[in-house]
Amino acid sequence: MLTDLVVVGYNINMTLQIYDIPDPFQVFVANKYANAKGAKYDFFSGEWDFNCLCCNEMLTAPNKKTLNKMRLYHTRSECLGGW
Ligand SMILES: [Zn+2]
Repeated sequence: MLTDLVVVGYNINMTLQIYDIPDPFQVFVANKYANAKGAKYDFFSGEWDFNCLCCNEMLTAPNKKTLNKMRLYHTRSECLGGW
């Protein structure tokens, strides 16, 4: 049984390697936002990402307004200890 599981996992890894071809549009988006600071929109997950500048924690939100709220809560209550 354990051998079967190992074989299945191996096959999945092989499939991922075969189809691991960079999508030109994905590369374009990654390069476009490589130097961007602050909130970034992840086109593929449809979410806004923000790396906290203090603790480098990744915050994600479905829209920019929610992300701003989460960022303020995070920096005031979690990162900077109430400041
Ligand atoms: Zn933080």
